[in-house]
Amino acid sequence: MNQTLKKEIDTLVQLQKIELEMNQLRQAVEKVENEKKDLAVRLTAFESALDAEKQALEQIQQQCTDLEKEIQVVNDRIIKSNETLRMVKTNKEYQVLLREVDDNKKRKNSLEDHVLTLYEQREAAEVQVNESQAQFLQLKEQVQAEQAKIDEQTLGDKERLSELEEQQQSIGKSLDPVLLTRFRRIAKMNQGQAVARVSNETCMGCFMNVPPQLCIEVQRGNQMISCPQCSRILYHIDE
Ligand SMILES: [Zn+2]
Repeated sequence: MNQTLKKEIDTLVQLQKIELEMNQLRQAVEKVENEKKDLAVRLTAFESALDAEKQALEQIQQQCTDLEKEIQVVNDRIIKSNETLRMVKTNKEYQVLLREVDDNKKRKNSLEDHVLTLYEQREAAEVQVNESQAQFLQLKEQVQAEQAKIDEQTLGDKERLSELEEQQQSIGKSLDPVLLTRFRRIAKMNQGQAVARVSNETCMGCFMNVPPQLCIEVQRGNQMISCPQCSRILYHIDE
């Protein structure tokens, strides 16, 4: 058996193991990061809805203030007209002013009806905003707790990933560049798997039969043998 070849294949097997674990970790990290993003999106959506409710309440509040001012103006007019009424000299003037007072009173009544309806709407809107505000705070707390949990979980995965990255780099440097390029090319065709064990004359990468003569060559270990089906570099372990 060629010891250099054996060592090279052992290194490739190790490299593959490292890279497969890295892929799994990256997928796991990506998945939880997406969950984290989804949580943030949910919270933002809730906050937007709450802001819309607050805006609606402000609008009603503004309408109430405007109406209250208008009622005040009309009321002042009534008072003024009543004062003037006492000083008029002709019946005609008196009639005109009286009608003016009457019109303003009607106007005031209608404005007061309107403002009462708005007060009810305002009250309902306030209840709604307070409820939503409480729900939002609850959701925010929940989301922050979940995000913190996710961060804690991924921290371990990320640490392991950087550990593996270091190992991957140092192995990469120790390998013959031509062999590494070959490994990369085959890995790319086979979802990251460039080396496969032969067991019972079967390639454990593609699960196709390997011709007996090739199996013997793999076992002898004097040259690098590729699977005729999937091109993976084959290796043998005594069972
Ligand atoms: Zn194969």
